[in-house]
Amino acid sequence: MTKRALITGITGQDGAYLSQLLLDEGYEVYGVVRRSSHLGVADHRLRWLGIADQVQLIDGNLSDLSSLVRIMRDVKPGEVYNLAAQSFVASSWQQPILTGNITALGVTNVLEAMRLTDTDARFYQASSSEMYGKIQEEKQSETTPFHPRSPYAVAKLYGHWITINYRESFGMHASSGILFNHESPLRGVEFVTRKVTDGVARIKLGLANELRLGNIDAKRDWGHARDYVRAMWLMLQQDTADDYVVATGVTTTVRDMCRIAFQHVALDIEKHLVIDPAFYRPAEVEVLLGNPGKARTKLGWEPETNLEDMIKEMVDADLARLSQ
Ligand code: NDP
Ligand code: GDP
Repeated sequence: MTKRALITGITGQDGAYLSQLLLDEGYEVYGVVRRSSHLGVADHRLRWLGIADQVQLIDGNLSDLSSLVRIMRDVKPGEVYNLAAQSFVASSWQQPILTGNITALGVTNVLEAMRLTDTDARFYQASSSEMYGKIQEEKQSETTPFHPRSPYAVAKLYGHWITINYRESFGMHASSGILFNHESPLRGVEFVTRKVTDGVARIKLGLANELRLGNIDAKRDWGHARDYVRAMWLMLQQDTADDYVVATGVTTTVRDMCRIAFQHVALDIEKHLVIDPAFYRPAEVEVLLGNPGKARTKLGWEPETNLEDMIKEMVDADLARLSQ
């Protein structure tokens, strides 16, 4: 029988790569898309991967339980991947209530839609390393205590625990993937890696002269989205649901990540990088470093792309995009 998956957040970075993986695995792929006045732009990432006409998009919203119940009834998926969120940390201080409504309560809406429609579908929740925030251990694992530092991280922590709660309360096959930062040419341009690769490409092409960033001493454990969506899928192929950290186990400063991008196109970082306090955050997560030991042992998961190769791929993609 054909396997059928439903993805919320299908128009985002991870939704696009996960769709590609599931199509390759022979799934029928359905995605929830929120209504927008900008016709035809929602699926640009799916089009970039050349798979837009292979997935089915359905009108719905994470804040509208009735739309999710209708979608669950119509699609009858065997696997549900909840990737939709207000996902940008900096915006979560500007829109804390919306962030709570979508990134936190939206998870309960999806879980309730599944419970109310009596489905045996398996559930994946997109949890985040931002939940560790002010880190309590040098390398963060599934047992490290959390200390969220933004309205986004607080909302993700709710999503993480409600997933565990539905697993314990109702016996649902509900897993939470605590994913560290993952990037790609499809990453939103507001996030630091893509802001850097897009900015460097613009400077190289003579379209800009400077790149303005905030705290470049912050450290992140960056991986490639293509590798990370494989971990999501592997979690739902296990007999029992569980929680997993997905990371590379290597942490790098924003400054050094920038250097890779500038060096790739033979530009001098000192001439173009400007520190702008406007990009500082009210509370910062200074360092994140994941321990992916459990994912490696239990899921057999390994990342395939390192930071340097990923940043080069992103710069090249931005150069190609801007040259068109
Ligand atoms: P994106 O920001 O690229 O995608 C977010 C998706 O959520 C988009 O498809 C967006 O739709 C959708 N969405 C937002 N609000 C709603 C709503 N009210 N109803 C329905 N859909 C909505 O995120 P990523 O792909 O990078 O990340 C996927 C998930 O993983 C997110 O939950 C994120 O928080 C989490 N995560 C990401 C990490 C990363 O490094 N990328 C790390 C850890 C967790 P639209 O296109 O209309 O905006
Ligand atoms: P996050 O880890 O989910 O917040 O991912 P981001 O890519 O948005 O930010 C990663 C780190 O880069 C954070 O510590 C930011 O403070 C830092 N950073 C420094 N300058 C910038 C900037 O101009 N934009 C963004 N988005 N982050 C920046």
